[in-house]
Amino acid sequence: MQVPAPFQYEKATSVEHALTLLAQYGPESRVVAGGHSLLPMMKLRLAQPEALIDINDLVELAGISVDGDALRIGAMVRHTELLHSAVAGEHFPILRDAERVIADPVVRNRGTVGGSLCQADPSEDLSAAFAALRADLVAVGPGGRRTIPAREFFVGPYQTALDDGELLVELRVPIRSHASAYEKVERRVGDWAVAAAGAVLNLVGDTVTEVGIGLTAVGATGFVAAEAEDFLRGGQASDERFAEAGRIAAEHCNPAADQRGPVDYKRHLAGELTTRALRRAAARARGEEA
Ligand SMILES: Cc1cc2nc3c(=O)[nH]c(=O)nc-3n(C[C@H](O)[C@H](O)[C@H](O)COP(=O)(O)OP(=O)(O)OC[C@H]3O[C@@H](n4cnc5c(N)ncnc54)[C@H](O)[C@@H]3O)c2cc1C
Repeated sequence: MQVPAPFQYEKATSVEHALTLLAQYGPESRVVAGGHSLLPMMKLRLAQPEALIDINDLVELAGISVDGDALRIGAMVRHTELLHSAVAGEHFPILRDAERVIADPVVRNRGTVGGSLCQADPSEDLSAAFAALRADLVAVGPGGRRTIPAREFFVGPYQTALDDGELLVELRVPIRSHASAYEKVERRVGDWAVAAAGAVLNLVGDTVTEVGIGLTAVGATGFVAAEAEDFLRGGQASDERFAEAGRIAAEHCNPAADQRGPVDYKRHLAGELTTRALRRAAARARGEEA
């Protein structure tokens, strides 16, 4: 049986208390949210924090609500809550699409939005979705409160822009009349992505005025297909151009071969799924699909 190395356990009672505990235990401490990524890593001794700071009781990190012109999503919101949120689904179908294919109900009942983003696993579905949406992430730490654009949050595999002692408290997604969709290929239901793509589109008439494309599990810098976005912006929203955007996304991503598939297959999927997500987002923008 795999057991973690010994560690101290503390239950934070407020954000302020969590920050005090993080400062007290220093860089060898970690917060624990759903524990679905951290605890397996601790059992494998890939992570050996000296202290775990439990943030499950922090009401400041809970809830999904409209706040001004943004949707606020607390860092401790569980996948299940986001999946079933009517307001999130109404404004951002990409989040509902992505949540439907994240793991299984057991994982979704416990795993959190904040934990998914802070883990920065290259295969994490929400990272690409929030990067495509150009969400803002709000962190608090010894230096106060700051906002980090999702596109600057993911520094590399398992690395984020959070400083030591900082806590992610919420996400803010600007509410605009953009359509969106997420498409994923997995080896079996509930598995991590072989590859996936999310698309966010604003159409004026038949012109793409704004576009966001996120890629999962194919080594795209910051989870974004920037070259494909540049190609689409200002042009016609046609199937041919969506296919070309997919080709560009495939060309510029950098997948690695692993047990989920070889490089060529993943690259092919990155292109195909980008095209499919764009077509589905466009169909939603035109009211042809829910
Ligand atoms: C069997 C299985 C299948 C899965 N399949 C998928 C899948 O298909 N797609 C997918 O996207 N994900 C998948 N996951 C991952 C799942 O989404 C996890 O819930 C997620 O990766 C981590 O969330 P968590 O709340 O459990 O975080 P934890 O494990 O508690 O924490 C993860 C990391 O984030 C840090 N952290 C957590 N919250 C904060 C915060 N508020 N501020 C600062 N740091 C924080 C922790 O210190 C830790 O380093 C799967 C997990 C399992 C176990």
